Amino acid sequence: MTQTINTPEKETNKPKHKKPIYIMIHHTAVSHEKNPDQFKANNSYHQSMWNFKSSLGFYLGYHYEISKAGRAKKAREDGEPSAACYQKNMNDGRCLHIAIDGNFDIEKPAPAQIYKLRDLLNEKVKEYSISKDQIVFHNAYTNKSCPGKNLELSFVRSLISPNALHDEPNNKEKIIKVIEYLMKLIKEL
Ligand SMILES: [Zn+2]
Repeated sequence: MTQTINTPEKETNKPKHKKPIYIMIHHTAVSHEKNPDQFKANNSYHQSMWNFKSSLGFYLGYHYEISKAGRAKKAREDGEPSAACYQKNMNDGRCLHIAIDGNFDIEKPAPAQIYKLRDLLNEKVKEYSISKDQIVFHNAYTNKSCPGKNLELSFVRSLISPNALHDEPNNKEKIIKVIEYLMKLIKEL
């Protein structure tokens, strides 16, 4: 997506994007044995369904899609509205939607997909200070099985490395800053 980096257009688009506070995992429900890289097919399919173009020029409803070989392709800017889960405002940009090519009711994710998912999750959790319990499955919001019975939420959350989590150091830093500020105020009395 090098053509969109640092263009004035992207800068003006930015304020419309929310800071993601959730990450939702999907499968495409189409076997990755039949089609190992479904980005193009899903982009066309979603165009025919909703014609909802992203700022990056794609129609895919998700923000990212991971092929069987573990290539993640970005279709929407982080925080940009999506067409992936209509429940609980999860399409308004508050949630990053990651789809993995495959039907995980009948097959398992390829190791390369798990590695890419791990890397992408760790990157985004760190970037937006998202906690592990804000990583969710689509099936918690709908009666679909998405992302399939062969993917477990506890396993996906376990992919997050402890140093990607924000809580401890950030909170400590904040508390220290507050104390320093109070000390300064006391000195000035
Ligand atoms: Zn889904």
